[in-house]
Amino acid sequence: MSGPNTSYDPVQVAPLHAEQVEAMVAEALAAFAAATSVAELKEARLAHAAERSPIALANREIGALPPQARKDAGARIGKARGQIGAALKAREAEVSAAELERALVEERVDVTLPLQPHPVGAVHPITGLMALVEDVFVGMGWEVAEGPELEAEWLNFDALNFVPDHPARTLQDTLFVEPADGGLVLRTHTSPVQARTMLHREPPIYVICPGKVYRADEYDATHVPVFHQFEGLVVDRGITLGHLRGTLDHFARAMFGDTRTRIRPHYFPFTEPSAEVDLQCFVCHGDSVGNPDRPCRTCKSEGWIEWGGCGVVNPRVLQACGIDSDVYSGFAFGMGVERTLMFRNDAADMRDMIEGDVRFSRSLVGVAR
Ligand SMILES: [Zn+2]
Repeated sequence: MSGPNTSYDPVQVAPLHAEQVEAMVAEALAAFAAATSVAELKEARLAHAAERSPIALANREIGALPPQARKDAGARIGKARGQIGAALKAREAEVSAAELERALVEERVDVTLPLQPHPVGAVHPITGLMALVEDVFVGMGWEVAEGPELEAEWLNFDALNFVPDHPARTLQDTLFVEPADGGLVLRTHTSPVQARTMLHREPPIYVICPGKVYRADEYDATHVPVFHQFEGLVVDRGITLGHLRGTLDHFARAMFGDTRTRIRPHYFPFTEPSAEVDLQCFVCHGDSVGNPDRPCRTCKSEGWIEWGGCGVVNPRVLQACGIDSDVYSGFAFGMGVERTLMFRNDAADMRDMIEGDVRFSRSLVGVAR
């Protein structure tokens, strides 16, 4: 750029001539008008209104003029730049409005088009049912207890009063883990969690233990070698069979609505007395019994459904777990999750529960609620 120079002849500074300036304005306005997109308009702006544009370069020459000429040229260039700036601003507004309009048309979403549904999974019914069971007991102030699936043989059997030659301990029923004398089994029931709970804390104990268990069983419609149970355990002062009955009835109503339970004498090593729990059929309420015209699929017209086992905790189990059986007593009960799901939700084949077909899970959506 030139510095001030009094001998400078404005007539020689071509870019500052009125015709030249008008031509720059006309060219800029024409370029802006020709631009139809934001990108094109940006090009036009760089060419005609930016730092290196003719009008900006002409502006730089003003400083070199004598005072009067500088004033005239300044006014002329200022006016021209104002015109160019205003035209650019107006065109920018038009072009971006037009682009928005075009995008709205071209990118319009037709909400009536059929969707490609995005497949989502489902909570497995076993998981859902266990959550429901936990909810029932947590709602009564119980705690949820868990334990390892690879369990000490002592906790799985001895602590629960299984005698050394009890048939449940044979290879036919139990999956022992090598080495054979290592004292480890895949737990055959969730009862060792009860033993662990009693060993690790003081009464009062109110726990529900849901979990996976293992037996050397067949794999067919009603047997699977890996299945789930939930067991409840209460140890407190003055606990009786009456508390067990009340708990079972409440649990049954929470799970099945209008129903009740009954118990039949049975034998388990870890409870004394022991009983099997039956559930009154929550579909026919016994009306199908002796009534061939109204058969009931749920209870096979027997009126009652075998549900699980229960009993008053054997004092020997309390003693093995370090609890004073003269002060404390307790009850325990346990049910199979798969079996409960079978009659509660009409799932006929246990294999459906472990084969992982999401259609099965979806068909039982809402099991937990
Ligand atoms: Zn029935």
